[in-house]
Amino acid sequence: MPRGSREGIVHAAKFRWAPWRERFESYIDRTPGFGPWGDCHRWTGPASGYPGNQYGRIMINKRYQRAHRVAWEIAHGRRFPRGKFALHSCDVGLCVNPYHISPGTQADNMRQAAERGRLDHPRQGPTNPARGVAHPNARFTNRDIAQIRLMHTRGHTIASLAHQYGAGWSTIDQIVKRKTWKHVP
Ligand SMILES: [Zn+2]
Repeated sequence: MPRGSREGIVHAAKFRWAPWRERFESYIDRTPGFGPWGDCHRWTGPASGYPGNQYGRIMINKRYQRAHRVAWEIAHGRRFPRGKFALHSCDVGLCVNPYHISPGTQADNMRQAAERGRLDHPRQGPTNPARGVAHPNARFTNRDIAQIRLMHTRGHTIASLAHQYGAGWSTIDQIVKRKTWKHVP
């Protein structure tokens, strides 16, 4: 599965002076502790999508661009490959950490989604083998699942639960919708 790698990231000066660059940066919260490994960069600007599956967007040259694609482009100093999907190894759509983003195909995208529904726990990324402030190696217990569902009914958002359990948004979303962990009452 393709994932972001530190190799090939050049931090090109090309985008450093772009007129939108300061605005882009102003939307990024790099406070540690967000995401499955605790190093996701949270996009705080405008977002699209639906709850549990959101991604950031930014207006550049009168067009909306996906924030995580732009983050990848800034880090690599070139345009995102045409026809490819920008996949998150962390499963956090609002993350703009370029190390967590990599180009992939629709098939990769579907496979990741399927794996996430099946595995139900955050994976260790190859770029972050030992890190993770939130819950490294977190695997849910039946008790966790029951607790997550209970907290959700009491008004905790998918986002806050994902953060709290160090899991991906869609992972928590599928738990509360009982698409996964169906055996837990
Ligand atoms: Zn991330």
